[in-house]
Amino acid sequence: MDIRALYQEVIMDHNRHPRNHHVMVHKTNEAQGYNPLCGDQLTVYLNIQNNIIEDASFVGCGCAISQASASLMTEALKGRTVEEAHTWFHQFHEMLTEDKPIPTTLNKLVVLAGVKTYPARVKCATLAWHTLEAALKQCTDCVTTESTC
Ligand code: ZN
Repeated sequence: MDIRALYQEVIMDHNRHPRNHHVMVHKTNEAQGYNPLCGDQLTVYLNIQNNIIEDASFVGCGCAISQASASLMTEALKGRTVEEAHTWFHQFHEMLTEDKPIPTTLNKLVVLAGVKTYPARVKCATLAWHTLEAALKQCTDCVTTESTC
């Protein structure tokens, strides 16, 4: 199996069986995101204690890439610091928009690197991360329009 097929398999698995796909009762942060190009919608929930993301979850609907990206993101965030989350956001965004070597620090998140070859889908993959940034800023009712993409 080549690496691209393997990545595709991980994405489809996360789309079919999304991790952390539920409303969080004991949340400290929350934000909603919408990608009008594709119709993807997400709400991201976080429980942050002492600068550590103790729990992360999401609900939403949309294409396979947007849902898989949110699933992978929430899985990766648990136990990480807020600073690490910001760093990943920037690295993930760069991975999909710039011609640079892919940072190894992104771990499993690199499975979405292939999305770069489909520019129309980049916003699907980054929606979860833009929504995360909004949640970290305690923006509880704003809709990310992804103007920075
Ligand atoms: Zn999409």
